[in-house]
Amino acid sequence: MIKFLDLKAAYLELKSEFDDAYHRVMNSGWYLLGQETEAFEQEYASFCGVDHCVTVANGLDALGLTLRAANIGPGDEVIVPSHTFIATWLAVTQVGATPVPVEPDPATYNLNWVAIERAISPKTRAIIPVHLYGQPVEIDPILEIASQHNLLVLEDAAQSQGACYKGRRSGALGHAAGHSFYPGKNLGAFSDGGAVTTSDAALAENIRKLRNYGSQVKYYHELPGINSRIDELQAAFLRIKLRHLDEWNARRARVADIYCNSLESIPNLVLPHLPEGLKPVWHLFVVRHPKRDELQEFLTAHEVQTLIHYPIPCHHAGAYRDAAVNKQDFPIATELAETVLSLPISPHHSETDITTVCQAIKAFAVGQ
Ligand SMILES: *Cc1c(COP(=O)(O)O)cnc(C)c1O
Repeated sequence: MIKFLDLKAAYLELKSEFDDAYHRVMNSGWYLLGQETEAFEQEYASFCGVDHCVTVANGLDALGLTLRAANIGPGDEVIVPSHTFIATWLAVTQVGATPVPVEPDPATYNLNWVAIERAISPKTRAIIPVHLYGQPVEIDPILEIASQHNLLVLEDAAQSQGACYKGRRSGALGHAAGHSFYPGKNLGAFSDGGAVTTSDAALAENIRKLRNYGSQVKYYHELPGINSRIDELQAAFLRIKLRHLDEWNARRARVADIYCNSLESIPNLVLPHLPEGLKPVWHLFVVRHPKRDELQEFLTAHEVQTLIHYPIPCHHAGAYRDAAVNKQDFPIATELAETVLSLPISPHHSETDITTVCQAIKAFAVGQ
């Protein structure tokens, strides 16, 4: 059976380092907001190429707290992709603002500036470009539009740790970025975790307060904040994984290369499109097929585990049942939801695993 993802393999590869970190933190007697968290924040800020990193409890909070710190709330509109993980939208909903979905480029599945420009209204305050599947958004034209309209560009970098756009890292491309350290992400903890990266000192300070009951100094609560922190153990684990991130992303790229080379000429199978100048990190390897469900069933029968990211477009999710967006039409998002299929990819799949997946896909194509 070829698993979609084997998280234990990541633990086993660096077991002695993780185990040392576990003992170091447990013996320190200090478990929240301490030296490990501070060290990770510095290391991750410098990895991304920004001045500040503020860790929080998860990626959803990273996005939501940044919107809140930027004073975005009820009556405001935030532009989001119609095709994304629902957390991007929920962050906007969480602060009481309205998500305004924009259709992606059908080739890259990412937001493009042409569609964004049409969606801007006098109420628009921010844009959340998502580097979906680990592929950076073409950000420069979006930054240009944002500066014309005075909008915040908040990257959703949950799937793109380490990715580069014209030599700049994801996390340093907009005014701020929300990251997730959910275990399955490219830089995943062994629990939930998240962070905001930014070079805006005031924004960072605001988020730093908001995540810790609105206080910078213990028991002086300046803002009605929340509790959104990672613990010292996770920070220590993330420091270890960060040191291996580029290498592990390079292994994902090798898996992607095998897929791209072996599946090139399969009829009706659409492979990821790679624009120039972008260095994706292959969080997911997503193909499209008009008979997606049959292909998935065939692969399951041949012991290859696949997933769908995502089967229900956000505007059709129960969470937005009563929202105005539910009645709108987003044909590209709807079509993607019906045709996308994520193949196994990780730093721990062997070449043999991936070749087996390719053979199964070829066998499916022959039967068509
Ligand atoms: C995972 C993810 C999030 C949310 O991160 P959590 O840590 O699970 O809250 C947000 N946006 C995207 C695109 C994601 O993939």
